[in-house]
Amino acid sequence: MEHQAPLYDVLNYLPDGIVMVDERGVILFANDAFSEMVGFRSSILLGLNMLSLLADIDVFQKCIEKVMREGKSLDAETNFIHSNGTIIQAVKSVRMIRHNDYVRFFVNVRNQTDLNRLNKELRTSKELIELQAHELSSLLNSKNQELEEILSSIDEVIWYIDNQTLSLRYVNRAVEKVFGFERDNFLSDHTLWQQQIYIDDRNLVQMFFETLLPGQSQEIRFRILHHEGEIRWLSSRIYHHPSLHLFIGITSDITAPKAQSEKIAFLAYHDPLTHLPNRAKLKLQLESRFEHSSTSPFALMFLDLDNFKNINDTMGHKIGDSILIEVSNRLRESVGKYDFCARFGGDEFVILLEDADTLSVDAMAQRLIQTFKKAFRVNEMDFYLSSSIGIVLYPYDASDVEDLIKHADTAMYEAKNKGKNQFVYYHTSMQRALHDYLHIEALIRDGLSQNLFELYFQPLIDTKTLQLEGYEALLRLPHPKEGFIAPDIFISVAESNGDILVIGQEVLKQACDFIETVRKLYDEPFFVAINVSSKQLHQELFANELLEYLHQRFIPTSFIKVELTESAVMENIEIAERQLRLLQQGGVRIALDDFGTGYSSFSYLAQLPIDTLKIDKSFILPLFESSSNRHIVEAISNLAHVLGMKVTAEGVEESSHYNFLMEKNIDTLQGFYLCRPLPKGKILKNLEDKVPYFTPIFPLGYTI
Ligand code: C2E
Ligand code: CA
Ligand code: CA
Repeated sequence: MEHQAPLYDVLNYLPDGIVMVDERGVILFANDAFSEMVGFRSSILLGLNMLSLLADIDVFQKCIEKVMREGKSLDAETNFIHSNGTIIQAVKSVRMIRHNDYVRFFVNVRNQTDLNRLNKELRTSKELIELQAHELSSLLNSKNQELEEILSSIDEVIWYIDNQTLSLRYVNRAVEKVFGFERDNFLSDHTLWQQQIYIDDRNLVQMFFETLLPGQSQEIRFRILHHEGEIRWLSSRIYHHPSLHLFIGITSDITAPKAQSEKIAFLAYHDPLTHLPNRAKLKLQLESRFEHSSTSPFALMFLDLDNFKNINDTMGHKIGDSILIEVSNRLRESVGKYDFCARFGGDEFVILLEDADTLSVDAMAQRLIQTFKKAFRVNEMDFYLSSSIGIVLYPYDASDVEDLIKHADTAMYEAKNKGKNQFVYYHTSMQRALHDYLHIEALIRDGLSQNLFELYFQPLIDTKTLQLEGYEALLRLPHPKEGFIAPDIFISVAESNGDILVIGQEVLKQACDFIETVRKLYDEPFFVAINVSSKQLHQELFANELLEYLHQRFIPTSFIKVELTESAVMENIEIAERQLRLLQQGGVRIALDDFGTGYSSFSYLAQLPIDTLKIDKSFILPLFESSSNRHIVEAISNLAHVLGMKVTAEGVEESSHYNFLMEKNIDTLQGFYLCRPLPKGKILKNLEDKVPYFTPIFPLGYTI
């Protein structure tokens, strides 16, 4: 069986010492961690009495007596004597098991050097020792089936995955409780565990695996989405096995400790009448999203029943309660597994939706309105209800919990004022129109037919020389009233209706015009980076046509760089690879944009002819809000350099970002701190007047 070796290995890689003794204290087994802790080789330890290693024999004997008397595991602090005579403070848990006729004690010893860590981990020590006890007892038999059975009874998730593909090779049954899926689902779909990682934590997890060196073990905490849609916190200790090419891990669900005990949590966080999550749970759910800086967009709906007060007043609370229960059931059903529904107060409900695009949000709001069409039947009587819904979109309408709810409530009142039984978005009417697909589509058409699209250029600075390296071309679509429409909005519409192909040609043309003009004013080499969307990349002739166009215009290919997002490349790796090779052979350099936000496999990336990784601004902007962002930036930088690629950081807005990135060996910087995107005319004027784009400040504090 495939999993035989690593399961036995678990005992030796565990950071805790594990010892098995008989009732007199004679050591029958000791793992590597224990040998190391006390400074004796395990061959010497076997047969030795445990008492001879203890500085405080009494404590141990009392502990054993108590365990024998009460039959459960026990924690105690104790001092061991190291072979070099020093005293080691440790904490141990002792557990007794009966094996056939004889009694064995399993002792789990943990070095107490790091008190903080200890306090955190103490609460899991009972489970841990149970796990270790079972494993040891199975060692006595050393039969796989038993081992498998024992592993099934352990509460912690034990697993291992391939260190290259991260595909799952083994997991015990405990996974079912933590994830809510059958274990077989994980064994047949080897990437299911990755799909269930909460979207905002995927980078963290991936970075963790990329940087955990063979032979090392480390702990990581991250969130997953339970089968029923609930976010759960897990803590995993993971070991990178050097010769088996596996990551081996033990994972526990720490959601409950985070919210005290589950029972208290349920009472504290659920509404006793409808069993829906309550207002406190809603806040917790929202806050846990905000704990990570790069929260993905979502929608929040505030739903209020119309005229419910009348029913309560005329028919009494009992009937009112029955109706509320039925309303909750219908809402729960409409909202489905992946979204979240809470009872906010009397007849108010709040729903969180993962899909924040207007089409999905509209569809859900319609569905909710529809669920009220059917009569509510209580005591043989039919009641007809309707609801009014207010909707806010994160991050467009609000950026914190209070404002989200406040604005959704405002929108809900607007829905009431407009005649109830409908939904209303929080936006002002202009903002709402801007999010409207058809409206944007029309603006794009106008933009194309009237040549309104205009490229802006944002300088990129080489950190070694502090000179200009090139420009990123960023597209602007002017709007008659709103100034500009953000490219993030119109590009996604153009991608979905195919207009992006025409837009892409326009971008290339304007970029080439710009290169031609700038070359006349500026002798040094530079490049213009153009953004290419996935739809363009997947056109059969994309690379050839681009090279051909540059050739026609007599522009050397080194003047163009192509920026592709990680997800565009990973969408179809074979097509992407073919196009990238053609571009590279033609001399066009390639940058991987928004790096860190997708979910790419480094083993693929290493094979692709990528020149530069562009760390996404969502890591740079909140660089000093969480240390994990700084670690990710450093890890990407190291990784890129190992792979022979360069690194660019975008979104450099502050001097603190600048100083940090200069220090961390980032090759190129881009951001408002250095220079905003400028129209062509302004760039040319600066070049003519020899005005620098920016006045960079050396990290030491003087300007050049
Ligand atoms: P991107 O490729 O990641 O472009 C960088 C974005 O970051 C630009 O936003 C730029 O203005 C902005 N930025 C630069 N420095 C800073 C900074 O210090 N702080 C902050 N907060 N932002 C900074 P922009 O111009 O709104 O473009 C948004 C996205 O639209 C681009 O993201 C790109 O994905 C897409 N896009 C823009 N132009 C084109 C284009 O010609 N073709 C295609 N396919 N996509 C484009
Ligand atoms: Ca870009
Ligand atoms: Ca980017």
